[in-house]
Amino acid sequence: MTGKAEGGTDPSEAFAALGDPVRVGIIETLADRDRTESQSNGPGLPFSTLRKRVGVADSGRFRYHLEQLRGVFVEQTAAGRYYLTAAGGQVVSAIVSGTYTDHTILGPTELNSSCPLCSDRPIGKYDRGVLQVACPNDHQLFVWVLAPNAARVERIEPVIDVATREFFHTIEMAHSGFCPDCFSPIDTALERVDAPNQAIRFCAPCESCGSTLDAPAGLCLVSLSELRLLYHHHDRSIYDRFWWQQEFARNNPQIAPPDGDPESISFEIGLEHGLLDVTLSETASVIDASLTAMP
Ligand SMILES: [Zn+2]
Ligand SMILES: [Zn+2]
Repeated sequence: MTGKAEGGTDPSEAFAALGDPVRVGIIETLADRDRTESQSNGPGLPFSTLRKRVGVADSGRFRYHLEQLRGVFVEQTAAGRYYLTAAGGQVVSAIVSGTYTDHTILGPTELNSSCPLCSDRPIGKYDRGVLQVACPNDHQLFVWVLAPNAARVERIEPVIDVATREFFHTIEMAHSGFCPDCFSPIDTALERVDAPNQAIRFCAPCESCGSTLDAPAGLCLVSLSELRLLYHHHDRSIYDRFWWQQEFARNNPQIAPPDGDPESISFEIGLEHGLLDVTLSETASVIDASLTAMP
């Protein structure tokens, strides 16, 4: 989210206030105090105790940095104790999860997979918060922003797995009619685009926050219990291979089945022992889903 919230603080101004190790130290010390000590003397810490714990000898310099945090991240009680506000607490969570501070890099790694467009092997890499999977011919298969905490592993495959789970949850939320970023009600649609192999996309733009979701149409089936059941019957899960290789993601839907609504779109997802037929409206809502066992 960008911009100034009504009556709030501009996020960029707020984070500029953190541009010094002493200020980060103050926030971490107050968070540590909240976690480990009783509140019987009131919240937070008095000035001198806080200064000693952060480890700054110069009282004037310390007061200057503390004042830069006042109002948004830190407040003062009537008794003169400094304590962390809710916004200060959120900053601590972000620092702990590494969102603002880490510079983790993984890959580039050749994945045991093939590009759905050209069959070449895709390359995965994670660099400072962004996961990217693309083939050597520049077909972008997956781009996802993910906190660096998720990348504190040896290999890139588990990072792709975490990103896929978040991606699917995001799609589920959008498919249910709510923006995954700001939770405003949104309109969803299946749109035809001129891209090879992906004739229809699931689109969910949000007018309130400007976020957009655009994914292969088959992915809006991830919340469908019939799809999960089909995979379950095959001792599989919808997460058991890279998502761009999954049958439901690769599936090219049929536009306007001859015996149905001309605006509807139908999918046929066949696994070894079962077949799932799904019909979606042009707004991507499920009109019909039926699972049949195949001998
Ligand atoms: Zn390719
Ligand atoms: Zn939104």
